[in-house]
Amino acid sequence: MAPLQTMPTFSELSCIEKETVIRELGYSDNRGSSPIIAIIIHGLQHPMSVHYGMRHNVPEHCTAWHIPSYIKCMTSLGIAIPKGELQEDKREELRAVVQCWMNKYKITADKIVRHYDLNIKCLCPEAYVEPKKWVDLLAYITR
Ligand SMILES: [Zn+2]
Repeated sequence: MAPLQTMPTFSELSCIEKETVIRELGYSDNRGSSPIIAIIIHGLQHPMSVHYGMRHNVPEHCTAWHIPSYIKCMTSLGIAIPKGELQEDKREELRAVVQCWMNKYKITADKIVRHYDLNIKCLCPEAYVEPKKWVDLLAYITR
């Protein structure tokens, strides 16, 4: 996946919500001067680019386009988790990535959010929309 030469337009970004092929947008080869202040977790149920969890992961210093907001994409790292509830090994893998980035970028647990938290119309990641399941997973990956 090659980096974009230009930033996507908002209408290109909004394609994510319509589940059209954002994958073709790839990612942008910079973040400007934006700090990383959040980690956003997705299921694999819509097209996107993310920093962890896809076959081609976007480098951390680049902007992945995983939600239709320039500012949120430029200030976050995106993770895609497999469909369904995570098995032990996948939960541990997610925990390792999240812990690493929390330490590296000084991100607090309240800034680890689901796509669903940003847009309740997107049931993403689907298996963790239910509050209790998300609270349990969040506690596990951030402790
Ligand atoms: Zn999502």
